Amino acid sequence: MDAFAEVSDLGLGAALGEAVLSLQGATLDAELNRIVGSVFRHSTAAYVRERPRPGADDAALFCAASPETYYVLSGKNGNYNEADVHKLNVLASLTSGLFATRAQLDQRHSASAHAQLQQMQILDQIHESVITMDLAGFIISWNRGAENLFGYAAGEAVGKNILFLYEDEELDGLRLFDAFLEQGGREMEVRRRKKSGVVFWASLSLSPLCDPGGQPIGIIGYLSDITQRKEAEQKINHLAYYDALTDLPNRSLLRQLLDKSISQAQRNSTLSALLFVDLNRFKPINDTLGHQVGDALLRQVAERFRQALREHDIVARLGSDEFAVALPDINQHYHASLVAQKLLATMDAVFQVGDHELRIGASIGISVYPQDGGDAATLLQKADIAMVKAKRNADRISGSYAFYNHSMNQITAGRLYLESGLRRALDNDEFSVSYQPKVDIRSGKIVGVEALLRWKHPEKGWISPLDFIPLAEETGLILQLDAWVLETACAQARVWQDLGLAPFRIAVNVSAKEFTAALPVRVDAALSRHGISPQWLELEITESMLMHSAESVIAIMEQITAQGVVLALDDFGTGYSSLSYLKRFPIATLKIDRSFILGIPADRNDCAIAGAIIVMAKQLRHKVIAEGVETREQLNFLLQAGCDEAQGYLFSRPVAAEQISILLEKDFRDYS
Ligand code: C2E
Ligand code: MG
Ligand code: MG
Repeated sequence: MDAFAEVSDLGLGAALGEAVLSLQGATLDAELNRIVGSVFRHSTAAYVRERPRPGADDAALFCAASPETYYVLSGKNGNYNEADVHKLNVLASLTSGLFATRAQLDQRHSASAHAQLQQMQILDQIHESVITMDLAGFIISWNRGAENLFGYAAGEAVGKNILFLYEDEELDGLRLFDAFLEQGGREMEVRRRKKSGVVFWASLSLSPLCDPGGQPIGIIGYLSDITQRKEAEQKINHLAYYDALTDLPNRSLLRQLLDKSISQAQRNSTLSALLFVDLNRFKPINDTLGHQVGDALLRQVAERFRQALREHDIVARLGSDEFAVALPDINQHYHASLVAQKLLATMDAVFQVGDHELRIGASIGISVYPQDGGDAATLLQKADIAMVKAKRNADRISGSYAFYNHSMNQITAGRLYLESGLRRALDNDEFSVSYQPKVDIRSGKIVGVEALLRWKHPEKGWISPLDFIPLAEETGLILQLDAWVLETACAQARVWQDLGLAPFRIAVNVSAKEFTAALPVRVDAALSRHGISPQWLELEITESMLMHSAESVIAIMEQITAQGVVLALDDFGTGYSSLSYLKRFPIATLKIDRSFILGIPADRNDCAIAGAIIVMAKQLRHKVIAEGVETREQLNFLLQAGCDEAQGYLFSRPVAAEQISILLEKDFRDYS
């Protein structure tokens, strides 16, 4: 048996390995001492840290186990056999081999510890919080960013399950991990709780932590605080979906909520109602007392509506003085009318705005799902039409309501639809003004233009004034329209004068309804606001207007002409003005109605009437203008008959203001 086998046989090889690899210092020394003792059972053997001095009494046998340590065999008076020498050598070389292995392991261990330390330092430099956890969600590491973000020190967090940072209702962490591991990582926006209890928004991106073989052993999470961005998002969202003045949902949000409530009603086989609310008498308050008062009033109305309704009813503000209320889930139609009555009742008490005690009312139109429509847009449109109907028969001060119904025939519905569009066309900037030249027949030069109102409906396109002016007159909206045209025309006159064009007359049509004591004041204000001399403004009034309340009309006319503004009688010939009657009005110009020009020269009757009007006008010393001149023959006839001016497609259709400066250059003399 060789010495090595003997040593291993002794069963001490394992003991030696374990001692060198796991023990250190004095404990290791003691163990090695014990081992060498048991190898040389009957001799004096030791493991020492001092090289035995040569020439010592007992002539010890020794062998280095490491650069500083030795196995020593002593006693026997120096009589060691070959086996002793060999055993000692084997033991020493075995030990030194083990020391070398340990040194290597130590080195490797410290290298990886170093790498780990370096990694932590890098992670701490990262502003974001980086958290690693095992697959069950238990936190393994927690960098400084995480300490700052959550307020927990690494010592408090490491070892805990990540769920302790979660904000209530989130799905359980483990399932989340499974899901994300399948996808190999993911990003999300989550809510987390700080040590202080504050809940915040974080962007979280997860990626798997894998062992060298690619097997997932944990998760790395990167979190950053996005509360500010989230807040900004929410603010933008709020701005997009809520009315700034009343903080009620706006039209877009209402549509979404309404569509949702329709599908809910569909599932439950219930009804859903929409109430379209338009305030009565709001506009004059807003115009006379100012927007601040108007705004405060609207806020109070919104508050009263909110108070009157149940929590799951939806109140929205659609625009200016329009609100809508959606009742998501009703059983009977009359529930909607109860709510309408309730809303009207909120108008009973006066509104106190500053020193003003204000009384307003409301008109409410109601449409119901499913009978009136299956989507938000249709219900809104039908409720709007019903609202206009309610507005027409406002019998109480607080207002009235009406249901949309199919028996409202197409024509009424169409008219009501138009009327509802007209009510908001001004606010929506849907109007414009075209200008049509008036030509002096003899000189062939443009001497004036007529301002004509144009309306582009958002859905129906251009609508003729012949269709909407009567409607505007019927509903009283004409006052605002005419005021707007007057203002626009005066502003345009200013622009033309500033361009250096020689001044010319601008004619503006004035409705009979507008012919009140307020008109001269308004005209004066518009003229001076734009620095236009009154002689360049002409007001066209229709003949039929003269039939009513002559005395008061004459007084207003005189006031206007005294200011220097010119009056023309439009559509002349269609009324029944007698000569003597006409004499009483301070009118400068008669405008022959287009219907008499149409038949010239073929229709003798038309020729006779037009001729007579011209003669009569001359006698009264009025100027005469013919409208609707489309042909040279007509123009020729008018020239012969002594007509002063002409207007019509022959010269130009009504055009945009910019085109007028080009037309002014033209000479229309050779048209006749
Ligand atoms: P009006 O004041 O008698 O205006 C003349 C109308 O005849 C205009 O129609 C004009 O475009 C049209 N016209 C002019 N020359 C010809 C032609 O040669 N042939 C034909 N077929 N038509 C011609 P428009 O612009 O449709 O206006 C219709 C009416 O609506 C106006 O009749 C006026 O009574 C009213 N209107 C227009 N703008 C206003 C406004 O700002 N305020 C008020 N109160 N009424 C307005
Ligand atoms: Mg006119
Ligand atoms: Mg006319």
